[in-house]
Amino acid sequence: MRPVTKGARGTYPIDIPVNTLKAYTTAAQATRRWTFTKQNVIDLWSATPSAFEIVTGLLAYKTWGSKMQDDRYDNLEASLGVLETQLSSDDKGYKAATPILMGRIGKICSYCEQVLPDSVELEHCVPKGEFPYFWITWDNFLLSCGSCNTSGTGKGTGPSRATVKSWGGAKNPGEVTLYNAVRAKYVWPDDDQNAYQLLKPALWYRDTHNVPITWKQLDDAASVGPDVKLGLVDLETRYVSATLKVGVNAAQVYEVAVKQVPSGQQAIDSITYFGLDLPGTASTRDSRRYMRTIEWMTAVFLLRPLAAANAGNFAYELERLLVSLTGRGHFSVWARVASLMFNAMPVPGGGGGTIVEAILNGANVPTIWPGTDLTDVP
Ligand SMILES: [Zn+2]
Repeated sequence: MRPVTKGARGTYPIDIPVNTLKAYTTAAQATRRWTFTKQNVIDLWSATPSAFEIVTGLLAYKTWGSKMQDDRYDNLEASLGVLETQLSSDDKGYKAATPILMGRIGKICSYCEQVLPDSVELEHCVPKGEFPYFWITWDNFLLSCGSCNTSGTGKGTGPSRATVKSWGGAKNPGEVTLYNAVRAKYVWPDDDQNAYQLLKPALWYRDTHNVPITWKQLDDAASVGPDVKLGLVDLETRYVSATLKVGVNAAQVYEVAVKQVPSGQQAIDSITYFGLDLPGTASTRDSRRYMRTIEWMTAVFLLRPLAAANAGNFAYELERLLVSLTGRGHFSVWARVASLMFNAMPVPGGGGGTIVEAILNGANVPTIWPGTDLTDVP
């Protein structure tokens, strides 16, 4: 998983910060006990930013908070209509964050790393249906493909409030406590600088030459070795085959898949939650593993010229590579294949640095993998 730095909200017009919301709503509760009239609300709308944030927070409750029925909110029903209209329009609602995020972290799924179509949807890390407080909170935003947003065992509806409470902690947890619990449970690209180390891709093959037939992880050297070559593929069934050299055997054709290798329970839970390694079938549209597997084969093929480059043509080969990476997504696959293929090999002819560093230094080119946090990447 690619760690990213998405930065402050910038021009995104609405934000209720995770850690200050509780103070705002507590203050509002102490002051008014929810007896707003329409004019009160309009006054607040055009008043100070903190008052605005109070009202939008209350609106989040009104719109999404059916699970928090409380007659204190009844008086808001009529008076908040004007704000609801404002906030649900594309230029004022959370969707206004989408182009800002695309510019910061690329048009790439934050979880499976595939390039997103133009219908990219804003992703609420902590689901807005269950946790309406964080409906318009910048900290809670990423970008997601449809499969990552719906295919996992948990991601479709997100963990329920009861589930999050069952993870332990406070007896009557507040909204911020629940938010932090969801964030702590899984690996998140914007929260975990070590997301790449926790969820690294690796090449697996289906061993049909031995009984019982099982999936096995190919050893590192063979995964990027000279025999690796993409074979037949079928997007309908998500089948991918490749020529591989397994152990001391001659190179043969196997069904292959690039899966995430988890490090620790948080990473194990994340694979299940996002459904990252689901194979997809002819009756589903999930092609994440298929796309990742083909990308691995492409990376092996396109990185090979760098291994053969010398001091005279390395810079040219590197530039050719970086141009070919434009709009590809799948940072983790490229970083993993490069690190296995080159290890700590220095750039030919000296000049400092390793080949892997030379490749990853291009990571934050705006057309490639913008916003990548390289702190904990090889
Ligand atoms: Zn995805």
